[in-house]
Parts: sequence; structure tokens; C-alpha cells
Amino acid sequence: MTDVDLMFKALGLAWIPRLLNAGDKNWCSVPNYYFRKQGGLNFLLKCNYDTKLFPQLPAFYKNILKSFQELKILYGYDQASDLVLYNNKEIQVDQKTVYLSKWMEKGIVSVKDLLKEDGSYLSFREFKGKFSCNTNFIQYFQIISTIPNRLRLKARQIESVNNQFFTSNDHLFHFNRNFILNLDKAKSRDFYKLFIDKTHNGGQTGPKRWSEILSLNDEQWAKIFKTTRKLCKETKLKEFQFKFIHRIVVTKRELFKYGIKTDDECCFCGENDSIDHTFIHCSFTKSFIQKVIRWFNTTYNSHISPTIEEILFGITSNSNEKGIINKFNYITLFMRYFIHSRKLNNKPIDLLDFVNAVQQRHLIENNVNN
Ligand SMILES: [Zn+2]
Repeated sequence: MTDVDLMFKALGLAWIPRLLNAGDKNWCSVPNYYFRKQGGLNFLLKCNYDTKLFPQLPAFYKNILKSFQELKILYGYDQASDLVLYNNKEIQVDQKTVYLSKWMEKGIVSVKDLLKEDGSYLSFREFKGKFSCNTNFIQYFQIISTIPNRLRLKARQIESVNNQFFTSNDHLFHFNRNFILNLDKAKSRDFYKLFIDKTHNGGQTGPKRWSEILSLNDEQWAKIFKTTRKLCKETKLKEFQFKFIHRIVVTKRELFKYGIKTDDECCFCGENDSIDHTFIHCSFTKSFIQKVIRWFNTTYNSHISPTIEEILFGITSNSNEKGIINKFNYITLFMRYFIHSRKLNNKPIDLLDFVNAVQQRHLIENNVNN
């Protein structure tokens, strides 16, 4: 059976080859005007963008970029695009991402290019000397002051960033070491297949590993993937849930492995941190989750007592109370995201803070797709 939702996404994505090869034809002058300011569509696709930061881009093209971002997550896009200086949602000047064509021409692509051997930033004089780039020191310091320290540490740690991939004009998209997509040749049915392969079965590494520790079969995975897509509109949460399913959520274990943290201890209980620890075993998380469920049942006058699988991936069984189930799935998704981000920032998980965050963002009313 055709998945209509994915079919629409694939049809949108099929515009990428057309846009990349349209040259100066009239029909594409509007999108090209926007994309050129960001280094062109081919470059933009490789960046760590957030379409929310492109307020002027027509919705049609925004949706294409969003769908492409989903593909990147599904295929474990691993080109360290979070270190690229441009169109990076994490590097903003005046709440806007930057693109500096002059820097790009000189081969300045990522945070790593701005670092010395010891991991500190080049002085302005050193920067000028290295790149003979015509820029003023205000601009230089503006850029380095907006780079989150986490990215500088990651850049120091990482051996190299594949600058050539980012500067290349060919249309070969390197999703990961084993998978390159030729964007010139990709048709909507190819994009459709790419989605289907990743979203309709539990046979991939992440879900497989979850299935080893939880009781989830292929049929349930199919349902999980389906509900996840329909669950909410927020990109951040969607992205988190994809990463969660594929087990690429960062915990202290990974930060320790990359040398960003000095130990791998859970900041709540001191045991070894991991995805399983954070979401299943940690006594602090467990008690927090119970509080959230009690709060939910009181607030919505319900009697849900979810299994651990339902806490982690939502309730997928058919029920007459669809409205309340959608709310539950949405709130527990936000709960997992809350636990994750609080932990990364070394902050406690507190029910009151959680409830405030839920209410402040009008999460329930605006974001649940009923
Ligand atoms: Zn713990």
C-alpha cells in the first residue's frame, strides 16, 4: 500500500534535481534568489539548517528542505555539518544564520578552520595570515563569539572536516560512508523508496537494538514509525524522536568517548550513562516519569498505565480515546526530550519545570495533530 504522506514528501524532493539543474530559467528565479544568498541549494542541503530561520522562503521550498532534513537523519548523515560555519542553526548573528561568500572562496568552511593546533581560535592577525581573506576584525570576532563552545571542543577533537564535500559543485550527496546519492538522477520514486526502506521496518540497527531489550516486533515498529510522523509539527521534537528510535541520541557516554566530558557518569545518580540508562534504568528518571504520568492522568482525567515500551515510543494500539492517546504520546515525547536536554545541560528534572515548559509552549493545543 502506498504511504500517501511519504509520497507527497518524495514528490517534493523530486524538485531538488530540477532546481539544481535549472540554470537561469525563469520558473526558478524566486527560489534561486533565496538559495543564492545561502551559497546555493546544493551547498545549503549539506548544512545544518533550520527552515524556521528562512522566514522569506516560500512554504513549498521550506517543505522540500524539511523533508531532506528528515532523510539526512534517517540515513545517519555524518559529515560534521554542525561544524560548518554557514547556514548553521547553531551559529547565529542577530538571530540569523550567516553565509560569507568571501570566506567560502578562501576555503574557510568549518569551525575547525578557525582553530589553532591547541584548539584555541586563531588571532585576527593569524586568521588574515592563514587565509589572506579580506575581512575586518569586527566580523571575525562576531563570528567566533557566536560559535557555541561545545562546537569548538568538538572541532578540536575531530580529526578533519571534509571541506571538499562542502565546496564541491557536483551533486553527489554523501549521506554516510556507505551511501552516496546522485541528486541529478534521483526521481520521486527513489526518494519514496529511501523513506520506505527506513521507516516501515524494525530491521535497522537502532530499532533492532531496542527490540533486544524491549518487547517490540516488526509490526509494532511499523506502527511506531507511523504515529511518530503524525505526532507533532515541531521539527526539534521530530528530529529528537528520529534520533531516539535510531539510538543516536547523545548522552554523557558519547561525550566522554569524544573527549568532550571527563567522565561518563550520569549527572543524576553517578552510574555509567547511556541511552538505556537515561531512559530506562536511572532511578531519577524512573521516578520523574512516574510523576509525569500521575500528573497527566490527573490533568486529563484519564487512567493510563503505560508499559515501558509505551513510555518510550508512545501508545500505538487502537483505542476509542484517540484524542487523549495523542496527547499522551505527545507529552511523553516532550518528556523524553526534556530529560535529554536537561541532562545535557546538567540541570535537574523537576515536575514543576516540566509542567511549566509544557504550558508555556502551548504544546498540547497547538502541536498535536488530531
Ligand atoms: Zn542516572
